[in-house]
Amino acid sequence: MAYSVPDLTYAFDALEPHIDARTTEIHHDKHHAAYVANLNAALEGSDWMDRPIDDVLQNLDAIPEDKRTAVRNNGGGHANHTLFWEIMGPNGGGDPSGALGDAISEKFGGLADLRSAVNDAGVKRFGSGWTWLVWDGSGLAVESTPNQDTPVMDGKTPLLGIDVWEHAYYLNYQNRRPDYLEAWWNVVDWDAVSARFDAARG
Ligand code: MN
Repeated sequence: MAYSVPDLTYAFDALEPHIDARTTEIHHDKHHAAYVANLNAALEGSDWMDRPIDDVLQNLDAIPEDKRTAVRNNGGGHANHTLFWEIMGPNGGGDPSGALGDAISEKFGGLADLRSAVNDAGVKRFGSGWTWLVWDGSGLAVESTPNQDTPVMDGKTPLLGIDVWEHAYYLNYQNRRPDYLEAWWNVVDWDAVSARFDAARG
């Protein structure tokens, strides 16, 4: 079965003023859709299409060599954007509560420190990529990846990820990636991030 772009659970303008409606529309309907179309084209006719995308990304070495780069880039793009839409929302921001809030305080000192670490990794990512809060198997960690690579490829579970490709912010922020990263925390859906945390640590 072919992969598909998940519908947004909110309107294109629901993340304004932090992420403008036009950016969200193009990002979801054009960029994410292109990753899915290219992923489906690369895997057409193979059994890989019946596997969850994370399984595919954890087994890139088993993908035929002539398709591997396309699957890495476009499968990563599909997985990363699916997560991105899920962990944002119109009533976002504030503080994480419960076990996730406790774990963030324990590991980083507090939410402000986590934000600084994630934003710093995003600012320092040269070119295009993502900055992440992950569950690494035993605890929380912050990292960044180039292009559409994902921590899933290293067996980690991304809990929160911010797209720092220019297409994610350029209409509103132009070259001001740090301003976009600061504003992004107003749209994070901590309930969704907490659900991922609870599932990851078991
Ligand atoms: Mn993107």
